[in-house]
Amino acid sequence: RIYLDHAAAMPVDPRVIDAALPYLAGKVGNPSGLYEEGLMAKSAIEEARGRVADLINAEDTQSIVFTGGATESNNIAVRGTALRNARTGKKVVTSAIEHISVLNPAKDLQKSGFTYATVPVDPWGVVDCEALREAVTPDTTVTSVMYANNEIGTVEPIREIGEIVHERGKYLHVDATDAGGRIPIDVQRDGIDLLTLSGNQLGGPEGTGALYIRPGVRSQPVVLGGGQERGLRSGTEDLFGIVGMGEAARIAAADMPGERRRLAAIRDRLIEGILTLEEAALTGHPTDRLPHHASFRFSRIEGESIQLGMDFFGVAVATGSACTSRTLEASHVLLAIGLAHAEAHGSMIATLGRSNTTEQVPAVLHAARETVKRLRAITPL
Ligand code: PMP
Repeated sequence: RIYLDHAAAMPVDPRVIDAALPYLAGKVGNPSGLYEEGLMAKSAIEEARGRVADLINAEDTQSIVFTGGATESNNIAVRGTALRNARTGKKVVTSAIEHISVLNPAKDLQKSGFTYATVPVDPWGVVDCEALREAVTPDTTVTSVMYANNEIGTVEPIREIGEIVHERGKYLHVDATDAGGRIPIDVQRDGIDLLTLSGNQLGGPEGTGALYIRPGVRSQPVVLGGGQERGLRSGTEDLFGIVGMGEAARIAAADMPGERRRLAAIRDRLIEGILTLEEAALTGHPTDRLPHHASFRFSRIEGESIQLGMDFFGVAVATGSACTSRTLEASHVLLAIGLAHAEAHGSMIATLGRSNTTEQVPAVLHAARETVKRLRAITPL
């Protein structure tokens, strides 16, 4: 089988398991304990924190808070930061193509008296900086724009966005779930105040994440309890998960230059091959895109049928965001780049990872060609 859905779930790197397993099976102690086991657990957590901080060039390891995943990081960043700073303004702004775990907290803030504005993107999915300049006002506490989009792979001009946000508003939150570990991120260079990372997307365990919070920025917890993780994420630390995420961050940083080049070459061959199929088009930016991300749309066929068809040939691909695939609604991302409802349904996303090779490309192209041909033959459209 050929697995091309790394953006939905990444296989955990065996080196991560080697590093973290002792903390599941033996080296266990509550990090709040002052006895030897506790101190060892605490020091393992702090080492992991340092590795995550290094990956994004954070100025201080204490600016990293471990969470239970990207969804939780996004909730603390958007909802927690807006609520904590409500006396300085009650407006939040996001791009139209954010993940649902950013959009829903932003919408929910309206119940607490916030106004919420979304900023459109161009047909390649790049945020409209003029519209952003108008949307961000002095009472805007949080503006959230993702580093790169999970459905169309487009990388946003974050540094420019940071400058615009700081000219008028307060804090820039960046969801780097899909960009983390894939392309260099530097929170200081890019003027990022809060940044979301997913542990699994780095090759670490599912259900782990981190939030970078620039020193001096205040946020408030979405879950209350014993005050762990600077009070923002109470609950006994997930030692196995945190050590695993730290090791994944270390490996991602070390392997990034090589993997980035290797996967981009496979991606480009996939794109070149798929675009020779009839009525196939690339979605997202042709060049400013994630190195492991290829996304397409096909006229007159349904994404779910493409997914099943490809699976028949032993190839796992995505159609839209895994998080909304249950609802079968047209993707808000594809609608935002200007596609009609009918066009937005025939989407196929291939996201690459360590197991993929150039040698797999012909089999993927064969599967796509046959799948599209069969589906077109039976389409009522
Ligand atoms: N943000 C983005 C951009 C995503 O693609 C995802 C899903 N992979 C999430 C947030 C949420 O991640 P999780 O389901 O791991 O919390």
